Amino acid sequence: MLVLPKYPMTSVFLIYCWLANFMSSPGKIDPHSEEDYWEEIKCSRVQIPVVPNQLSELNAPPDVPHLKVVCISDTHEQLQNVTNIPDGDVLIHAGDFTNNGDREQLLIFNSLMGAFPHRHKLVVAGNHELGFDANERKEERLEKDVGKGTENGFELLTNVTYLQDREVEIDGVKFFGSSYHPLRGFPFYRTRAEELGECWKKIPTETDVLITHTPPLGYLDQFGNERWGCRDLLREVEERVKPCFHVFGHVHERYGAMSNGKTMFINAAQCLRNNVIQTRPLVFYIPKKI
Ligand SMILES: [Zn+2]
Repeated sequence: MLVLPKYPMTSVFLIYCWLANFMSSPGKIDPHSEEDYWEEIKCSRVQIPVVPNQLSELNAPPDVPHLKVVCISDTHEQLQNVTNIPDGDVLIHAGDFTNNGDREQLLIFNSLMGAFPHRHKLVVAGNHELGFDANERKEERLEKDVGKGTENGFELLTNVTYLQDREVEIDGVKFFGSSYHPLRGFPFYRTRAEELGECWKKIPTETDVLITHTPPLGYLDQFGNERWGCRDLLREVEERVKPCFHVFGHVHERYGAMSNGKTMFINAAQCLRNNVIQTRPLVFYIPKKI
């Protein structure tokens, strides 16, 4: 038996179109994400997955004197729940240690970092560290974040080396850290192409280990159907800096490592999409240069 639609056919058609459109393109968190550009260039890029061993090591320790580097990121006020952080020479946190730069949480983070045995602790801020970016466009903040954060909160991080556009050398190995990213509405947001292109020029060409909060475009940067990575950062990393390692976080669901044959890209996010700690710290070894 044929059941006639309750609404005129045109209405049914319109509702169908709206539904189809809604289902296929849910609201984007980053409307400027760059899927199309990545599709254009990806066939010319090398992407070799790197699988950590049972000790979370991404490479073998070399026979020469070396640094053991332990990487974490995006702990979002749950660093105390990361119970399996291996000892090492350097501990890197690539940002988002808080949810909104709350002063109390910064003090807790600083205290927890201080208790770790690593000789060096290097930290870059993430987009959730509200108050850390003196040049933030505060009028663009998300409504839920207005009025939150700690101005110059990085001054409370006395137990770590805070890297913002700054290099530190450890046994001859050069580490450089920077927090800029292309996700609008947060501290350290800078516009794609124009401002970010300038930001990354500050990375010294001799950098061995680059630490940013954002991934470069195309490497462990996919959030749902969106590409959150930065094309300008990819260009600097590929064409000029060519660091041995590039550590970042930001895109929670793309934890892991990948190589382009020259640089190993490491997304060390400890929280996955639901903001609960679920992954292990990642470890790599790099020869000393002294
Ligand atoms: Zn995060």
